Amino acid sequence: MIVLKFGGTSIGNAGAIGNVIQIIKKSAKEPIILVFSAFGNTTDNLLNAAELAVSGELEGSKKTLQKTEEYHFELAQKFIAQNEFLDLQKKLNLYFEKLSGMVTGIAALRDFSSAVKDEFLAHGELLSTTILDVILRKFNLPTVWIDSRSLIKTDSKFTQAEPDFSKSSEQVHKILPPILEAGQIPVVAGFIAGNSEGRTTTLGRGGSDYTAAILGSLLNVREVKIWTDVDGIMTADPSVVPEARSIRSMSFQEAAELAYFGARVLHPKTITPAMEKKIPVRVLNTHRPEGEGTLILPHIKLNGNPVKSIAYKEGMTLITVVSSKFFKAYGFL
Ligand code: ASP
Ligand code: MG
Repeated sequence: MIVLKFGGTSIGNAGAIGNVIQIIKKSAKEPIILVFSAFGNTTDNLLNAAELAVSGELEGSKKTLQKTEEYHFELAQKFIAQNEFLDLQKKLNLYFEKLSGMVTGIAALRDFSSAVKDEFLAHGELLSTTILDVILRKFNLPTVWIDSRSLIKTDSKFTQAEPDFSKSSEQVHKILPPILEAGQIPVVAGFIAGNSEGRTTTLGRGGSDYTAAILGSLLNVREVKIWTDVDGIMTADPSVVPEARSIRSMSFQEAAELAYFGARVLHPKTITPAMEKKIPVRVLNTHRPEGEGTLILPHIKLNGNPVKSIAYKEGMTLITVVSSKFFKAYGFL
């Protein structure tokens, strides 16, 4: 069994979604669980709409929502013919009515507190998974939409919720096995979860990787595959060093070190649940699915090439303080 997670850019347009469908078809020879982010930049756009509302610009906020709505409808309609669209359209309309109601409330109260933020931003993944579930079934993949709010249970630290592994394990083992045993494919919204009162929480920005790793760890899968828009972890930032190559494999420790020093591919904290269970995590490129990507393992043997990759941080200032008076004295800093 494997978990496949697709990030926003992997599903940001019809071409990318076409690749994703092929990748899923090839992977479905064994039981799979699908985790999706929101389409493209939807989370940022929703955030933008809410921020406009808090600052009292309701009209601008609604316009931003309108654009988001059009984007989702256009994307869905690239795959689903008009006569089959009605059911899905009803569901999407409900989500957008709710979003519109929420920005009206946010503008009236000038309040966008953490709990509201989670409820609001969760719509990015609710929309993408609702649409993808229908698209994938059209391509003969027997998907079942699962509400991640009942699957991943967390505390109530809205916007940065921490999973309760034992409660989530109970839910995951109750909900997923019957679906998998029936040969069906669960479609799970990444990033969003639920607290014990049934309220929507989120696992922090970029949290879909975390969702994938939590599910992979609870189900003890063979591998977690993170599909993104680059060839895994590279030897350097390819936008700065065009000759950068992708790294075949690295240890969790190395990935963590790189992320700390500025590499942006993957936040290692999000894959710790998989690493603790010794589950390999592979980072792959949706736009070049034949590539090998990078395999992250809990531990690897050193191969005589201690330097794997160069990461950097921008906008740093280094200050060197020299004082001869304090030469050889400590306690100075
Ligand atoms: N859509 C969420 C975000 O943009 C979660 C994710 O992409 O992993 O932060
Ligand atoms: Mg995203």
